[in-house]
Amino acid sequence: MLYERSSRLFAEAEKVIPGGVNSPVRAFRAVGGTPIFVKEAKGAYLYDEDGNRLIDYINSWGPMILGHAYEPVVNAVIERAKKGTSFGMPTALETEIAALAISMVPGIDKIRFVNSGTEACMSAIRLARGFTGRDKIIKFAGCYHGHSDSFLIQAGSGAVTFGTPNSPGVTKGTAQDTLLAQYNDLHNVAELFNANPGEIAAIIIEPVAGNMGCIPPVEGFLEGLRQLCDANGTLLIFDEVMTGFRLAKGGAQELYNIKADIVAFGKVIGGGLPVGAFAARNEIMNYLAPIGPVYQAGTLSGNPLAMAAGLEMLKALNGDADIFTRLDAKTAYLETGIRQKLDETNLAYTINRTGSMISVHFDASPVTDFKSAAKGDNETFKKFFHGLLAEGIYIAPSAYETWFITDALTYEDLDATIAAIGRVAKTL
Ligand code: PLP
Repeated sequence: MLYERSSRLFAEAEKVIPGGVNSPVRAFRAVGGTPIFVKEAKGAYLYDEDGNRLIDYINSWGPMILGHAYEPVVNAVIERAKKGTSFGMPTALETEIAALAISMVPGIDKIRFVNSGTEACMSAIRLARGFTGRDKIIKFAGCYHGHSDSFLIQAGSGAVTFGTPNSPGVTKGTAQDTLLAQYNDLHNVAELFNANPGEIAAIIIEPVAGNMGCIPPVEGFLEGLRQLCDANGTLLIFDEVMTGFRLAKGGAQELYNIKADIVAFGKVIGGGLPVGAFAARNEIMNYLAPIGPVYQAGTLSGNPLAMAAGLEMLKALNGDADIFTRLDAKTAYLETGIRQKLDETNLAYTINRTGSMISVHFDASPVTDFKSAAKGDNETFKKFFHGLLAEGIYIAPSAYETWFITDALTYEDLDATIAAIGRVAKTL
């Protein structure tokens, strides 16, 4: 396949947009080469500016769980747009999607809509701090909660010391309030509680990590976090931006039967439009302005186009009793097929999967946290990525990303993908 026009468009973009992209991972820096420019997409396929058709395993990094240009969502957006695109005033749509989301997710009484997953997590943290009257939070190395300052933190010099900024522009003061723990390591979290008694407002976690490849929680880990939070008066925040409305109607909370205190959403909840949300029981949500002291706002929050898209998406998922079983079955089929093909080679690999989130790591040892994810062979991944791209298959341009399976994928698409992986694996 040729990507000449994409390369030219990227060169043009680089002149006027930093790095040619509006979000860094799109730039292909981790795999080399230049990004593919999309012209349009339908169902399981992307069509690029060079006229290539690609089977899409990223699906806008998660939102397009029913495939691209899903008609009910597209039609709802078109119809809403004709009636005005933003008012800065309440609409009945907002109440409708709020009520539906609350009916699908366990343990939440109220939900507030924002414009991105970043905003949802940032606001969840502020709310937790306001509610508990404490400053510090615990996050896990390798988990991503968006690009707000409190989350752009790396581990400090010791396990129980403060984090340090991992981007210029994040202040040392901010970093001091974010404590870093290792994913799947309860002992490490307990140490942080011991070293910071009465100071930790919240633990924020991706209940299934999706930003260091896919890393499921080991048995007892989420339960242990719940217990530590209860014992210490700390709120447990599930960042379900990836997992929400993807792993089950009620997300990871439902799948693992663990209740979080605050839940952050993004991606699927917006049906492909810019939407995030955070939700909790009344006691916590009533701390928010205008009824409570914690300020949070947004000119475009609850935007009618975004709400119309999200509402159609949630209705489709809520009305389809088999959707999550179907997604799980398709992804399990893909996993089995990839294993068969990789087993025919000498490649060392680990595949992690939860429901329709899956990732392939080129290392034989279990991938359970950021350290083990970082052991993957990036050179092999790069060749794997470009080999698949040449076969018309689009996976994330980074070894640290999860693949998102969409219901629009047919078993023929999956077979074609598995066959292509077989051919590419032999060249690695
Ligand atoms: N939380 C998680 C788990 C994510 O994966 C992401 C984005 O990938 C975010 C938060 C941030 O969401 P957004 O990119 O919509 O700001």
